[in-house]
Amino acid sequence: MKVLKKGEPKEWSVKVKCTGFGNNRYGCGAELEVVKKDIYLTYSEHYWGETDIFYTITCPECGKETDIPNSKIPYYLKGVFPSKAAWQKAAKGELS
Ligand SMILES: [Zn+2]
Repeated sequence: MKVLKKGEPKEWSVKVKCTGFGNNRYGCGAELEVVKKDIYLTYSEHYWGETDIFYTITCPECGKETDIPNSKIPYYLKGVFPSKAAWQKAAKGELS
């Protein structure tokens, strides 16, 4: 049996700790409340041709990137995130 929900929450958010990723780029440990517009996609290509997609944020405290586990991203949001380049453009637009 499946429980039907009465519409999705107005603004989804998830709590994430800034951990950085890869190459010893350790994060600052800040607790971040991440909303939809904070997230962009990054890719990791394997030599055998598969590509992993990561849901990534940039920490406002230390400027490092942290990946959000796939399991924390609800299914109805998985298709909506921009590329990093598009996200950076949008973020700049917001400041001006
Ligand atoms: Zn940080």
